[in-house]
Formats: sequence, structure tokens, C-alpha cells
Amino acid sequence: MARYTGPSCKLCRREGMKLFLKGARCHMDKCSFDRRSYAPGMHGQNMRRKPSEYALQLREKQKTKRIYGVLENQFRTYYSKAARRKGVTGELLLQMLECRLDNMIYRLGFAPSRKSARQLVRHRHIAVNGRTVDIPSFQVSPGDTVQVREKSRQLQLIHDALKRTGDAGQSSWLSVDKVNLSGTLVEYPKRDDIPTPVEEQLIVELYSK
Ligand code: SF4
Repeated sequence: MARYTGPSCKLCRREGMKLFLKGARCHMDKCSFDRRSYAPGMHGQNMRRKPSEYALQLREKQKTKRIYGVLENQFRTYYSKAARRKGVTGELLLQMLECRLDNMIYRLGFAPSRKSARQLVRHRHIAVNGRTVDIPSFQVSPGDTVQVREKSRQLQLIHDALKRTGDAGQSSWLSVDKVNLSGTLVEYPKRDDIPTPVEEQLIVELYSK
């Protein structure tokens, strides 16, 4: 599946907030957003117009896509699936994004960013229920155990990421075993369990037009 390969920091500046797309760098003085928090481009510093309702909905959708590293077609597919299911569409959409394998690796603290988590999966460092999975969008189900493969346990990136996260950000819907570098999806996360700063209702309004 294709992915965005352009500059990440530009995306934060476009969305007007830190999206934490680069791991450690996002917490340092080097963060571009801390230095230039206006939108990129020639007119970035002069955009003062009140955004329309459509613009707000569009921005919320773009922001969500960018946080999870998903492109338009795939994002729309997630939305269609969520809309067909019973329940609150916005919450189900976020639930599906959270249960992507790359996101889970990031939430478990095994990678400093979703981008690195994606790379760990693509490079076959991760197994689900004992079988190697190299598809970042793989949907993890409750009861599934995700583990760093035996041959990859020494990867410095993983240990650095674990050190940095410590106990912070541990989720009730995930159980982590830092010794064996594994984690289990205990249950699907509810909206309150998902710390992503988006207003998913605006996305539902945008796609329902
Ligand atoms: Fe965004 Fe700052 Fe991280 Fe760049 S370094 S991706 S601007 S949070």
C-alpha cells in the first residue's frame, strides 16, 4: 500500500498542531512546528480568514489521515466499513485505525513513531500470534498477541523507544510485556481510551454529504 513520502513537518504546520510524526525529534528544540507554527507556503503567515464549515471538516479528515499515515483511498475504505457497522461511526473509524498493526506497535512503545512502527512491520520484525506479519494495515483483533520476533529483539530502536516511553501512555485496552517485547489487544478501545486529538464527528459529516 502506498504511503506519503514528503516532508512530515510540513504536515504539522499545515494542520496547525504537532502531529508527532517523527518520534524523538518531535520532543526536541529541533521541532519545526515550535520554530514556525504557521502554515507552509508563501501565504502561510497571512491566512486569517475564518474557515468555512467544509474547511473545518476537511482539515479534521486530513489531520486524522496524517496522524495514522493513511492515504485517501484507504481512509475512505475505513470510513465505509465503519459506516456499515452497528455503533457510532466516528468511534468505529478511530477504533479501526487504532487496531492497525503499525499503530499497535507504536502504542505498545516498541517504536518512536507510527512511521518507524510501519518500517518494523514491513521489515518482518513483528509476529502476530506467532506468525510473521509484514502488512502495516493488518487489523489486530481482541485476544491477538503481537510480538517482536526472536531475531529482532536486540534492535536498538526498540529499546530506545521503550526507554523513552517508560510507563507513560499505557493503555487499558492493551497489555504490554516489556521483557518479552510482546503485547495483547485486550479489547477494542472506546473513544475515551483513544488520545488522538481529532473531532471524528466532523469527518462523518464530511463523508455523509
Ligand atoms: Fe511535527 Fe515537530 Fe515532529 Fe516535525 S518534529 S513531525 S513538526 S512534531
